Amino acid sequence: MKIAEQSNNPYQVNEKGYYGPYGGAFIPEMLYPNVEELRENYLKIMAEPSFQAEFEHLLKDYVGRPTPLYFAERLSEAFNTKVYLKREDLCHTGAHKVNNTIGQILLAKRLGKHKIVAETGAGQHGVATATVCALMGLECIVYMGEIDIERQAPNVARMKMLGAEVRPATSGSRTLKDATNEAMRHWINNPVDTHYIIGSVVGPHPYPDMVARFQSVISEEMRTQLAEKTGTELPDYVIACVGGGSNAAGAFYHFLNEESVKLVAVEAAGKGVSTGHSAATTFLGKPGVLHGSRSILMQTEDGQVVEPFSISAGLDYPGIGPMHANLATSGRGIFRAITDEESLAAGFQLAKLEGIIPALESAHALAALKTLTFNPDDVVIVNLSGRGDKDLSTYMKFL
Ligand SMILES: *Cc1c(COP(=O)(O)O)cnc(C)c1O
Repeated sequence: MKIAEQSNNPYQVNEKGYYGPYGGAFIPEMLYPNVEELRENYLKIMAEPSFQAEFEHLLKDYVGRPTPLYFAERLSEAFNTKVYLKREDLCHTGAHKVNNTIGQILLAKRLGKHKIVAETGAGQHGVATATVCALMGLECIVYMGEIDIERQAPNVARMKMLGAEVRPATSGSRTLKDATNEAMRHWINNPVDTHYIIGSVVGPHPYPDMVARFQSVISEEMRTQLAEKTGTELPDYVIACVGGGSNAAGAFYHFLNEESVKLVAVEAAGKGVSTGHSAATTFLGKPGVLHGSRSILMQTEDGQVVEPFSISAGLDYPGIGPMHANLATSGRGIFRAITDEESLAAGFQLAKLEGIIPALESAHALAALKTLTFNPDDVVIVNLSGRGDKDLSTYMKFL
């Protein structure tokens, strides 16, 4: 795992846990010892050669890395430029999330934790967590909103088959934010033996930085693979969808300081940015604190979190990680909002042109191609964060 230089990089986290004005650790006092233990140890542990060796071994033989960087010829023709797809959809469990859960489970073991707690919305992070707990033989409890448990039956079944206990969150709107509250409460009550695995670049410091580092393998591979194919490590564009922001953080990581590389972050507009049914955080949100860090979030005048909406469960989040909030505010990132309809069209287009059915989240990134103006020689990498099997029932409604 190659780690980017911190000094001199205004887009990386600083020693205090901030990306520009965003980040930090806004947590209840009861949670402080847990988060502090993690903060004191995560960099030390990640730098250990034995940790790196085990992480790399599992990424290779269990996850199937490196994932290919595929030149999409017919898609390139359609946009009159050179489009490459980073195939995170080929990872074990079908998306990039497992890169992070492998990293965190190895870290948990070295911290002497033998129980894992996690929260999940659509169930994708819950499945990735249950998977690595089975792999390591650790106890796994996943909190999930009661409503989500009803909506996401196949992922609930997967988690149970993998040996996890799925606990319903029955308070509030009985969705992701309530599951997050319950998981935090669980961690507060079990600080000694339990590690809390967060699934994106959100939460209190050091989570956003830790998750970004585990996912940074994506851009590390991109550079090597692009050099092999084209003779240069630097593309003109990297495009990725943003829910919390972990696949985008991984895809951008080793390009953050390369100003010639345009970083395009794609949010879910839902039914449209101004329809009241959207998840386009940077277009609609304001600075505030959510889930332990200061970032940009969708909120009412008096600071109540607004329920997000997107056809894609993985992008249905009212906030965005602090790294991305800083990319938005500083102008380093180019932000796009893509509607449900546009993402569906892009998903069908990729299936027809390349024989690849993308996750609806990744289809948002693909749909951003038509919002940009390329030269024929431009090299554009789209991070294909996951595969579309989980979204077939949604796609089927539009066949
Ligand atoms: C969860 C998920 C996302 C969104 O999460 P990020 O942390 O923003 O990457 C994107 N794509 C897929 C396939 C997912 O499962």
